[in-house]
Amino acid sequence: MHSKQASTPTQPDSIPAIPVLCVIGTGLIGGSLSLALKQQNYCGRIIGAGRSEATLQRAKQLAIIDDYDTSIAAAVAQADMVFVSVPLGAMSAVFEQIKPALKADAVVTDAGSAKQQVVNLAEKIFAEHSQRFVAGHPIAGTENSGPAAAFAELYQQRRVILTPTTHTLASALEQVTAMWQATGATVERMDATHHDKVLAATSHLPHAIAFALVDCLASMDDIDEIFRFAAGGFRDISRIASSDPVMWRDTFMQNREQILEMIQRYQAELDIIYQALQSSDAASLQALFTRAKKSRDQFV
Ligand code: NAP
Repeated sequence: MHSKQASTPTQPDSIPAIPVLCVIGTGLIGGSLSLALKQQNYCGRIIGAGRSEATLQRAKQLAIIDDYDTSIAAAVAQADMVFVSVPLGAMSAVFEQIKPALKADAVVTDAGSAKQQVVNLAEKIFAEHSQRFVAGHPIAGTENSGPAAAFAELYQQRRVILTPTTHTLASALEQVTAMWQATGATVERMDATHHDKVLAATSHLPHAIAFALVDCLASMDDIDEIFRFAAGGFRDISRIASSDPVMWRDTFMQNREQILEMIQRYQAELDIIYQALQSSDAASLQALFTRAKKSRDQFV
């Protein structure tokens, strides 16, 4: 169980840290944040907003949100903190709907898996209010999506990266930091471009590999037999290929350059294995496998 040293659970009769939180996109990421904050009595009220009413109804049934509004603007107008957890491709349209409805001192944050384009969008759309926008990315997730996939423990002992800019107000950054700490997460700060580079290597490339591997096997003739005997290594490496295709399409498109560079590096590594096999060079194979094992044993 994660220590709650960083959280500030409120007493029933005290003012909650966030009087009204609006969660736009009540799926895995937004739903899990709501559930975690509810456990801590961190918010007075949590209002959901999003695209389809069916999802919002489901989120309410699951006690993820206290209520919802089908109008994003109407939901945002009541909020002290707005958390945007929709696919990256929907951010722009959602930001446009949020902007005219925001209370003057409302803080806005997001969960998008790539950050530089979100930061650029926020500066363009929120204009002066972008000083109260704090871009963020929880390094936590599963291959499941939607409200039913949400759970309160998702962020415990996980990292959340915030990517403030030089314009970001210290008070806004502190509020978003404290909110994440209340979920049991550790918060780190990073430049948005650096975030995108790091995540291209540690998350986006692994997803590319998993999608490519499953797609490669699925196109083989003896596919039924291959998947029947799939266990161990295949299950481990392919799990994330069950992730939401729209979310990953958007993440890849928003971090194109960095992912292209990582794919090139990976292709070069596969080439080394290919060449070693072609020339029956067991020593080179063993050297590469040994280096990789040593690195993984050391860092993971
Ligand atoms: P999810 O479970 O699919 O939830 C997405 C939510 O956004 C749903 O409530 C969906 O509602 C709503 N939505 C979709 N399109 C929308 C639109 N055009 N306008 C308004 N609402 C819309 O996805 P998620 O995994 O929570 O991901 C949310 C965000 O977190 C993404 O930006 C992703 O990059 C980021 N993230 C994900 C993970 C992960 O592992 N999943 C980890 C870190 C960060 P409907 O049901 O109506 O479509």
